[in-house]
Amino acid sequence: MATFKYPQFVKQINHAAFDQITHPASTVPYSGIYRCEGCGREIVSTQGHTMPPQNHHQHTVAQGAIRWRLIVAHE
Ligand SMILES: [Zn+2]
Repeated sequence: MATFKYPQFVKQINHAAFDQITHPASTVPYSGIYRCEGCGREIVSTQGHTMPPQNHHQHTVAQGAIRWRLIVAHE
């Protein structure tokens, strides 16, 4: 779970970037914190870099494939 202390430094916005799923080894569309939809693991990725490979971490069959969702971005 991503956390913060001071709310004045984090703003909630309604942006489609947070609805997009980013797949392993693809180009990072936005810099920020990503959460795996299957297991909840979080990573930090930089725009223009490459997302971690499919073998970054292991899932059960029920968790499905690694799918990254942006949860905190910086402007
Ligand atoms: Zn996962």
